[in-house]
Amino acid sequence: MTRERLYLFDTTLRDGAQTNGVDFTLADKLTIARMLDELGVDYVEAGYPGANPIDTSFFAEKRPMRARLTAFGMTRRPGRSAANDPGLTALLQAQADAICFVAKSWDYHVRVALETTEEENLASIRDSVRAAKAKGREVLLDCEHFFDGYKANPQYALACAKVAYEEGARWAVLCDTNGGALPHEVEQIVADVCRAIPGDHIGIHAHNDTEQAVANTFAAVRAGVRQIQGTLNGLGERCGNANLVSIIPTLKLKPEYSQRFEIGVSDEALARLARFSHALDDLLNRAADRHAPYVGESAFVTKAGIHASAMMKDPAAYDHVAPERVGNRRKILVSDQAGRSNLLAELDRIGFPVEKTDPRLSRLLDEVKEREAIGYAYEAADASFELLARRLLGKVPHYFDVEKFDVNVEQRINAKGEQVSVSQAVVKVKVGDDIMISAAEGNGPVNALDLALRKDLGKYQSYITGLELTDYRVRILNAGTEAVTRVLIESADESGEHWTTVGVSANIIDASFQALMDSIVYKLMKSGAPV
Ligand SMILES: [Zn+2]
Repeated sequence: MTRERLYLFDTTLRDGAQTNGVDFTLADKLTIARMLDELGVDYVEAGYPGANPIDTSFFAEKRPMRARLTAFGMTRRPGRSAANDPGLTALLQAQADAICFVAKSWDYHVRVALETTEEENLASIRDSVRAAKAKGREVLLDCEHFFDGYKANPQYALACAKVAYEEGARWAVLCDTNGGALPHEVEQIVADVCRAIPGDHIGIHAHNDTEQAVANTFAAVRAGVRQIQGTLNGLGERCGNANLVSIIPTLKLKPEYSQRFEIGVSDEALARLARFSHALDDLLNRAADRHAPYVGESAFVTKAGIHASAMMKDPAAYDHVAPERVGNRRKILVSDQAGRSNLLAELDRIGFPVEKTDPRLSRLLDEVKEREAIGYAYEAADASFELLARRLLGKVPHYFDVEKFDVNVEQRINAKGEQVSVSQAVVKVKVGDDIMISAAEGNGPVNALDLALRKDLGKYQSYITGLELTDYRVRILNAGTEAVTRVLIESADESGEHWTTVGVSANIIDASFQALMDSIVYKLMKSGAPV
């Protein structure tokens, strides 16, 4: 049976760039564009040339890629000709395969925001599509506020989409610009529109303001649209756009969609989806959402002991899809609620199978419970758990010793009369017979300690150059009578692997030191560093 083609249009670099706190550099944009191209989306909307210098320079030269590189911009201004509109002229000069125009499709906005007539708005759409077609570009029209517009005046909203289609635009895209539409409304309105314009010329652009952007997207697909717009990790203004990282696996893995449709994302690219998602978070310097569907650290986690023993017999019975398909993995929590079966399953996963009756298992379980009672959190710190288990059950190579460290924070007035705080750390490390003393300054005491610790590890230095700290979380716990600090550090390396380590102490520097040490030792072990 032949399947219908669905097209994916990514707007991480345009709508996603509107996210509060997100500021892409040109280099960021190029990196993300390459990543999207590898993922296999059909269109990469990279920005709005003319609106800011970065987007202008992005489109100033050809950026060869498999996906159709798309420039975003406005239709010609009311009362001007297409040839006499500098904004449109700049857009047509952009080195892009496709142009996505945005135009109003809600009669109220045409009158009040645009202060023009309904006819002039239609003429502006027609002229702009024609001008871009004449330049040899593929054309899309984003119909802004389409669903609200349709509810207010269906004939006019439809006329906007239709005039673009009739003028030769490849796609008329129905935008839920304020994100307020609900799935049943989207399904019904899209079905209406598909009676006037063929669905394989219609796209959906949903926002997440009622947390239904993904649901609205699927409602639109069911009703007939064949282009999906969205962003990586649901980036976007306010509550974000439809999340392609959730949409893609659903299209690929749920028979309802995978049997009817095909997309440009290969199985191999799908298996790297979690990595793509985390790479974007890294680039934005954000912690990954642990609870993100499909790709989050917790997406395939089981906590209860009774499930764990059954899971080992038949893992597939507990997951809605196989985690490996999206580059994730199943995880069984090792926590104080956990029983032996959780522990066995987790040991099995880290390549350390142990017999059920092995007495070392009880020792490990007791150790985990004791440590969790004083504040350690092994279910959040997979790498620290693995080290603890290996230390107790087998052995962790002894790579180096930190003989001593010294951290100080100094607050003073600098030459400009400003109050500044400077942190310094000195670390004395022993590797074999060699003693290394390293000092570093950091933007805080933990940063200084980390930099000093990783500055010179002698023969191990080459194994840790790709090590990076990607997240640092601190929590003050009330364990018993005294408050203690728990530090969780997330690290990553050149292979894209992520791991988390934990440290607990009454002293935040000490807790951080433990977590840093675990991270370095884990990395050395993982890289097969020789003892
Ligand atoms: Zn939008």
